[in-house]
Amino acid sequence: MPVNRKNIYFFGAGKAEGSAAMRNQLGGKGAGLHEMTRLGVPVPPGFTITTDVCTYYYVHDHRYPKGLAANLLAAVSRMEKILGRRFGVAENPLLVSVRSGARESMPGMMDTILNLGLNDQTVQGLIVRTQDARFAFDSYRRFIQMYAGVVLGIKSKSKDAHDPFETILEQKKKSRGVQFDTELNGDDLQALVAAFKSEVKAASGNEFPQDVYEQLWGAIGAVFNSWNNDRAVAYRDLYHIPHHWGTAVNVQAMVFGNLGENCATGVAFTRNPSNGEKDFYGEFLVNAQGEDVVAGTRTPKPIAHLKTAMPRPYAALRKVAGLLEKHYKDMQDLEFTIENDKLWMLQTRTGKRTGFAAVRIAVDMVDERIIDKKQALLRIEPDHLNQLLRPIFDNKDKEQAAQEGRIVAVGLPAGPGAAAGRIVFHAEDALEWKQNGERVVLCRTETSPDDIRGMEAAQGILTARGGMTSHAALVARQMGKVCVAGCEALNIDYAARTMRVGETNFKQGDWISIDGSTGEVISGEIRTLPSEVLQVLVSGSSDGKKSLMYQHYAKLMKWADAARKLGVRTNTDQPDQARIAKAFGAEGIGLCRTEHMFFQADRIQAVREMILADDEVGRRRALAKLLPMQREDFKGIFEIMGDLPVTIRTLDPPLHEFLPSRNEEIAELAEVMKVPVATLRNKVKVLQEFNPMLGHRGCRLGISYPEITEMQSRAIFEAACELRKAGKNPFPEVMIPLVGSREELKMQREIVEHVAKETMKAWGNKVRYLVGTMIELPRACLVADEIAREAQFFSFGTNDLTQTCLGLSRDDAGKFLPTYVLNGLLAEDPFVSIDREGVGSLMRVAVAKGRKVDKKLEMGICGEHGGDPRSVRFCHEIGLDYVSCSPYRVPIAKLAAAQAALNKS
Ligand code: ADP
Ligand code: MG
Ligand code: MG
Repeated sequence: MPVNRKNIYFFGAGKAEGSAAMRNQLGGKGAGLHEMTRLGVPVPPGFTITTDVCTYYYVHDHRYPKGLAANLLAAVSRMEKILGRRFGVAENPLLVSVRSGARESMPGMMDTILNLGLNDQTVQGLIVRTQDARFAFDSYRRFIQMYAGVVLGIKSKSKDAHDPFETILEQKKKSRGVQFDTELNGDDLQALVAAFKSEVKAASGNEFPQDVYEQLWGAIGAVFNSWNNDRAVAYRDLYHIPHHWGTAVNVQAMVFGNLGENCATGVAFTRNPSNGEKDFYGEFLVNAQGEDVVAGTRTPKPIAHLKTAMPRPYAALRKVAGLLEKHYKDMQDLEFTIENDKLWMLQTRTGKRTGFAAVRIAVDMVDERIIDKKQALLRIEPDHLNQLLRPIFDNKDKEQAAQEGRIVAVGLPAGPGAAAGRIVFHAEDALEWKQNGERVVLCRTETSPDDIRGMEAAQGILTARGGMTSHAALVARQMGKVCVAGCEALNIDYAARTMRVGETNFKQGDWISIDGSTGEVISGEIRTLPSEVLQVLVSGSSDGKKSLMYQHYAKLMKWADAARKLGVRTNTDQPDQARIAKAFGAEGIGLCRTEHMFFQADRIQAVREMILADDEVGRRRALAKLLPMQREDFKGIFEIMGDLPVTIRTLDPPLHEFLPSRNEEIAELAEVMKVPVATLRNKVKVLQEFNPMLGHRGCRLGISYPEITEMQSRAIFEAACELRKAGKNPFPEVMIPLVGSREELKMQREIVEHVAKETMKAWGNKVRYLVGTMIELPRACLVADEIAREAQFFSFGTNDLTQTCLGLSRDDAGKFLPTYVLNGLLAEDPFVSIDREGVGSLMRVAVAKGRKVDKKLEMGICGEHGGDPRSVRFCHEIGLDYVSCSPYRVPIAKLAAAQAALNKS
């Protein structure tokens, strides 16, 4: 432990040695207690043992650093002085709580002990002080029970077994003929204390410790040990909290919410954490101790009732809440206790909130002049916006499920949103069940392109393998589907149509719910709510003026639009998706792939004819059939996008992808196409490649078969000219893929320009257009100045650029990439977030070289990275003009672009 750091920090009587800035050492709870004390908020005095001590404790075989004991004695004595009470002394005894508190809050994962300092003598002093024997013995018996459970490990042996102390309590109530604890009197509770102590003796062989310092050290050790209890370890694993952080321990004077009807305890939020509404929100219990609220043994009342029940402390609480929110400039989550009408604050922290609440609170706080627009924009996690766009789970229902232990696993949050449905394991089943009116969740070990229709039919997709850029995740995002990917706990038996997740067994048809925003997998059905924003923007089924959520969203987007420098386009080849993206404010299409259009049932035949043709004449005949269909595709998209740019990529994938590979499929196709099976099989064989990713694809196709580029250009310009004639102003940008040299682009560009001129002449009008290239090969980056002489724009295809730069096939990387990330060999999956040093350097080179030739050369990115906030930031830094991403990520990219412009560190 660093030498010049103290191991104990004191707070009390308006002074604190620590502050909010010392969160790492004091933990979140400790830092809050110190800061509140500084602010003059009423906080019971106490001290914090730092996380450094916890680290020391684990490194040194559960021993404490030298000097800790002396410092602890000194700190206790300072508490005694402030309060005029003595620890372990019968007359007016000091009682304390021992509370855990890590850097990140881990709600309920570690243990808290209350009423420590009670023994057979001090309990008498407590009676004298409170004039309430019932209260004193009740506190004592609770303390014994808590201490025995947490420190001495005397508790129920299994989930079903009874807690030994609860059993004794039940017997007591039975023998007294009463139903509730509250009906037991002082004598009953005194007898219970004796019975509890005997139980401790019987179970541990030792007397319940009467030495209050033995109690204190026992509790401190237990808090440190609880850092590594199963619950806490599992929680950290799930939420990626480092295991080496350790917890702090807070020792704090007890205040009592259970001394009578003018006492209470509760939890409050300065604003509503679910929807962000500016109302004081919370719950409380009269005559109760803190754990009663959390444990749910009694149902708490809404905080509004406190106003009438205890007007003075309520007013004080409102005042403190206002002060703390103003001080932290953010919504606070508070814990308080009222002892004999006096308010005490026990905790404050920045309240966790939903995406809805995050947006609303940020926007409201700007209106209230607490923060400015910049702070509001910087405060919201771009990914949080997902929640405003997706159907979401009803939080109450989910909390209930969590309490019932129904959250069975956590995978990667790959496609945000909420989905509940019945489990199916096969794409065909998903389709069939949907046709029968069922909602389903498609559960797969992994997905393949064959599953697309099944994925479309499902409410959500759950996979055991694959990362955030896996096929399932990518498709899910494009479709706006909910998806949890890479959920390793999943064990599917396709044959038996069953699945095991941890200890829970599922079979086909069972209900399951997946939260694609958090990765949680929940057994049973959680209710969902539809997104208001989508109802206003896309379906028009809601009136924006009536939707507060929409208005907050729209306001935030307006600020983001004003702040950002980057343009935001979308990747889509479907008119309905283009419409959604445009509703979200996409400023064009950055990538319209043409091959998906080729797969449609009415044209795949012509595509195959083209591939199978022996000569150019045959190919042209087949291409002529495709021309009108492609033209209609482009017209549809131009119509929706109006005068915004539409970047259309010429054919990219290797031709074999359009042909079947299995024998029976080949035979079937041969019959339809009336060619001999052998001919077809031979063609398939000829087209097969050892490494298709680096094979005959991209512009290489258009170079081998110029008539393909010609047909596609014709379709583009005929569509554009036709719309131009109708008074529209379409703006195609023709993009040549996989270019590695100036000559390649030159040859393709000449074809495009030639067709453009010819078509415009035929139509007698002019359309704006650009011809440019995708930059997706390292060589293209290195000779970008040469390429720029032929290009009117660059668009970074960072999926392929990452593959070719790292020499890493995305489709095969799943076998080893997770190990790399896990062992820190890679900070993160380079297919999720741009690899700045490698791929990023190439991009910088390309930008510099390109701009040297043409200062105004338009530059964008159309890889999946265009929707990743950190990559968006990088694109801003290197001076790209726009990012392009899937439709549902447009708002996220906009916010990320604004944050980049506002210089988020
Ligand atoms: P958690 O981190 O699980 O919320 P806390 O340390 O906040 O645990 O303790 C739980 C509850 O115990 C608190 O909300 C509060 O009501 C009660 N509590 C803790 N310390 C004290 C204290 N010094 N006096 C009275 N009640 C306390
Ligand atoms: Mg708490
Ligand atoms: Mg590519």
